[in-house]
Amino acid sequence: MKKIAERIKQVKETISAACAKVGRDPAKVKLVIVTKSASIEDIEKVIRLGYTELGESRVQQLKKVSTQIADFIDSDKNKSKLPEKINWNMIGHLQRNKVRQVLPTISLIHSVDTLRLAEEINTAAAKLNLKPKILLQINTSNEPQKYGVPVGAAIHLAEQIETLPNLTLKGLMAMAPLTRNKDAVRACFIRARELFVEMQGERVTGTQFQELSMGMSSDYEIAVEEGSTIVRIGSAIFAS
Ligand SMILES: *Cc1c(COP(=O)(O)O)cnc(C)c1O
Repeated sequence: MKKIAERIKQVKETISAACAKVGRDPAKVKLVIVTKSASIEDIEKVIRLGYTELGESRVQQLKKVSTQIADFIDSDKNKSKLPEKINWNMIGHLQRNKVRQVLPTISLIHSVDTLRLAEEINTAAAKLNLKPKILLQINTSNEPQKYGVPVGAAIHLAEQIETLPNLTLKGLMAMAPLTRNKDAVRACFIRARELFVEMQGERVTGTQFQELSMGMSSDYEIAVEEGSTIVRIGSAIFAS
C-alpha cells in the first residue's frame, strides 16, 4: 500500500513544484490515475486512498475494470471509508460502434477528434438521456499522429460540436510525441495551450471550456509548466 501511496505523493509533489516554477495554483491541476497497466488489487488501493478520477484507454478494459470496482465498492464492509463514486475518464481512441456501451460509465471522454464521433456520442447520449462531457483531442505534433484533429481544423470542429445539444465541450486534450527531445515536447504543449486560449478568447465555446488535458508519466512536469489542468498518469504510479 505504501508504495503506491508514496508514488502518488511524489507525482503530486512534482506537480506542485512545476506549478511553483511558473506561479500556478496546484489545486488547478487534476490528477487522473490511468489504471490500464494496474492490477485490480492496485486499483483498490488507489480507491482506499481516496482517489476517484481514474482513466482507461480501451473500451473492453474500461467495462471490465469499472464493473469490478463498482462491485468492490458495493461489497466493502467499511463502505463509509470508500468513495461512493468513481469518475471514469476514457482517454484512448473511441470507436463509434463502442459509444453506447461506455456512455453510461464515463464521466469525461478525452478523445473526441471527428465530427462523426461527436455526432454518434450526441445521438447515443440523447437516447440515454445523458449529457456527457467531452474534450477535443488535437494533434499538435508536426509528425503525423494517428489520432487528433489538426490544429488548423480544431476551431471549426469545436463550432460544429457546440451545435450538438447533448454534448458538453469542456476543453482540449493533447499528446506529445514519444521522444526524449524535451523541446519538441514543450513545443507541442505550447501549441495546445495557445489554441486553448485562442478558443476561449474567440468564444467559439461556452464558459465550461476550461480543461486542458495534457501530460503523461514521461512529460507531465513540462505539461504543467505549460498550463495543463488535467494530467493522465499511469506508469509513474504502477510500473514495478
Ligand atoms: C496510457 C496513457 C496515459 C498514461 O501513460 P503513462 O505513461 O503510463 O503515464 C495517458 N494518456 C493516454 C491517452 C494513454 O493512453
